[in-house]
Amino acid sequence: MSARILNGTELGQQIRAELRQQVEELKQAGVTPGLAAVLVGENPASHIYVRNKIRACEELGLYSERHTPPATTTTAELLALIDDLNRRPEIDGILVQLPLPAQVDTQRVLQAVDPAKDVDGFHPMNVGALVANRPALRPCTPAGVMELLARNGIALKGARAVVVGRSDIVGKPLALLLLHQHATVTVCHSRTRDLPGVAREADILVAAMGKAAFVTPDFVRPGATVIDVGINRIEDAATAEKLFARHPAKLEEFRRKGNVLVGDVHPDVVEVAGALTPVPGGVGPLTIALLMVNTVQAARQRRGVANRVEAVR
Ligand code: NDP
Repeated sequence: MSARILNGTELGQQIRAELRQQVEELKQAGVTPGLAAVLVGENPASHIYVRNKIRACEELGLYSERHTPPATTTTAELLALIDDLNRRPEIDGILVQLPLPAQVDTQRVLQAVDPAKDVDGFHPMNVGALVANRPALRPCTPAGVMELLARNGIALKGARAVVVGRSDIVGKPLALLLLHQHATVTVCHSRTRDLPGVAREADILVAAMGKAAFVTPDFVRPGATVIDVGINRIEDAATAEKLFARHPAKLEEFRRKGNVLVGDVHPDVVEVAGALTPVPGGVGPLTIALLMVNTVQAARQRRGVANRVEAVR
């Protein structure tokens, strides 16, 4: 048996098509939602992420701009930039691409973002609202996972959900969102005892740990839904040959390009799971779609057009 593949690319496009209508209506009301991305230094992965986010804005007809302070920038310089973006009325969303360089106080920078413009949902006020299950901007990747589960009809009420990873960006907020949808949630991390045993209890297993192919078939109860948040690049031929021994298409891709992406879930899990998100093309596209949702939502709320346009969610 092979798992049903939960296609995030198609779903991301669907969400963006729904948003396009909303953006048109907003524009007719004289509002063009605007996103400012702050990208510090030369981290290649961060550059790709920001480029994709800006491109998504352009495709949707949103206003966007990119700020690229050098890797040597200081906390004070970043705070001044955030202050400026907070004040500008045409900017509805501010995204600070992480990680920031070591000399920068990341928490201070994230706390400086106006909570109403915090489209990443990282400000303590929005985190508090999430804990209390009150409306606010939600972190994009966890919100994207929830959208993926909902739109694929995966029932959460009473289900056993196991989230592997407890970061502030993915694991923790996702655990809260699942809990609010009445799943029975277990959060695992690097100190969890018998991780495979705990994971096997899951109806819905989420891997968000940043460890390539760590979640092997013995972690998965047959038929479970497996959500793979991880993005890891494999550049070593021996590892690729071993991981993709039963997946000739991926192996071919590696031989062609010299590298290939793999999630935190081992490719062979497809033979055990009931449903599985691919990497790439699973959670990633949803993250970007939800950033667009958040930017439009922030624009509606900031500019007082909240009731004129129906929300996606
Ligand atoms: P972090 O490194 O911040 O957190 C990783 C978490 O996994 C930690 O809680 C850590 O535990 C846990 N962990 C690490 N190793 C193990 C282990 N051996 N057993 C059990 N738990 C373990 O990562 P992020 O949450 O930021 O990202 C996770 C992954 O998701 C990464 O691959 C990242 O690239 C990807 N990602 C993908 C996105 C997308 O759009 N698809 C968006 C954001 C991230 P502990 O707390 O004990 O250290």
